[in-house]
Amino acid sequence: MQQLSPSQVPNVHEAEPIPEAARAAIEALMQSGDLFRYTAPQNAPVALLEEEFAQLLGSKYALAVSSCSAALFLSLKALNLPRDARVLIPGFTFAAVPSSVIHADCVPVLCEVAENYRIAISDFEAKLDDVQAVIISHMRGHTSDMDAIMTLCAARGIPVIEDAAHSLGTIWHGRNIGTLGAIGCFSFQSYKMINAGEGGILVTDDADLVARAVIMSGAYEHNWKKHKGAPGDNTRDLQEAFAKWQNQLPLYNLRMSNLSAAVIRPQLPELARRVRDGLKNHDYIADQLNQSPHINVPAPLAPEQRAPDSIQFNLVGMSSEEVNRFAALTEAKGVKVQIFGLSKDNARAFWNWQFMQEIPELPQTRAMLMQACDVRLPVRLTRSELDVIANVLLSAMDEVMSAAAA
Ligand SMILES: *Cc1c(COP(=O)(O)O)cnc(C)c1O
Repeated sequence: MQQLSPSQVPNVHEAEPIPEAARAAIEALMQSGDLFRYTAPQNAPVALLEEEFAQLLGSKYALAVSSCSAALFLSLKALNLPRDARVLIPGFTFAAVPSSVIHADCVPVLCEVAENYRIAISDFEAKLDDVQAVIISHMRGHTSDMDAIMTLCAARGIPVIEDAAHSLGTIWHGRNIGTLGAIGCFSFQSYKMINAGEGGILVTDDADLVARAVIMSGAYEHNWKKHKGAPGDNTRDLQEAFAKWQNQLPLYNLRMSNLSAAVIRPQLPELARRVRDGLKNHDYIADQLNQSPHINVPAPLAPEQRAPDSIQFNLVGMSSEEVNRFAALTEAKGVKVQIFGLSKDNARAFWNWQFMQEIPELPQTRAMLMQACDVRLPVRLTRSELDVIANVLLSAMDEVMSAAAA
């Protein structure tokens, strides 16, 4: 990659190249035309991806689909919830999350999110007795207190779906995020740790849940026979579950194409490096930003080891006018800072989810969104590129706040 001069601001929307190995796999698919996951009798790229991903995460089963949103939708359908079941989700997440709840004929219930971007456990607990399922969205890879959440939900027999779209590689007490709840969902959209343009995958240890999800994803007739667990898994549970659900479920056809799997598979061995670099880059910039009295990068929770590809920070002790000036000045200097609550029609601000029947007021979450900044930090950035970004943010802050003091 070409080295940028320090005065140049790096393009944070530019992706890392796809590993060379993907070319040969794609060329073979071009030759054979075998793009559909169920054409080959076995070992289609999508099936291999599922085995590899399940093994990587330490889960029994994986199902690759068209997006993380599709995975969330199928997870809710797999739980066999009654129509209009209430599903608790955080008030700070991407609009795809309440959308998946509505798509599954359920009703989203929002709970408060604290200043550190994690679920406010007291509000979560207060709303828990009135819901049938929970989606924990680890927004921007920030892990909520999963010890408290799993204990509270287990005591009530409430299933937990993890939206780990942005958490691939994140660890909680040594365990992979996405494997703590009944089902974990991940995204391969371009802004996530593994980039296929589009794509998603769900993992679970529950044969019944995965069998239902597999059939509804579009494994019509006996195509489910091409689904296996992680290597070494005893497949009898799975076979029995498929037999039980044969012809009992509607098909939504949310399958992944072999082309996407061919792009994803060679990226799996890159994950550990990306996670390491992403965390190092994040912490390097966080240390610089935390020097400013007007910036606070919230610390991770103690059991959490993060895998960030962006940074979030709160603006502290600034008027709304100063916040606006900071946003304008950083943009003029070439770094786009998204302030979730300020940018118009933001898909992560709950008051814009007007497709919901009822939008509650969440004062704590709203206050956080009005001061929370978001900057993309692709893991390929070099130290000097990180310095450029940090300098833009800190010098803009200096200009705004010294003008205010004068
Ligand atoms: C990206 C993202 C999604 C949606 O993923 P898609 O694969 O684009 O459907 C859902 N939740 C979170 C937290 C995300 O970051």
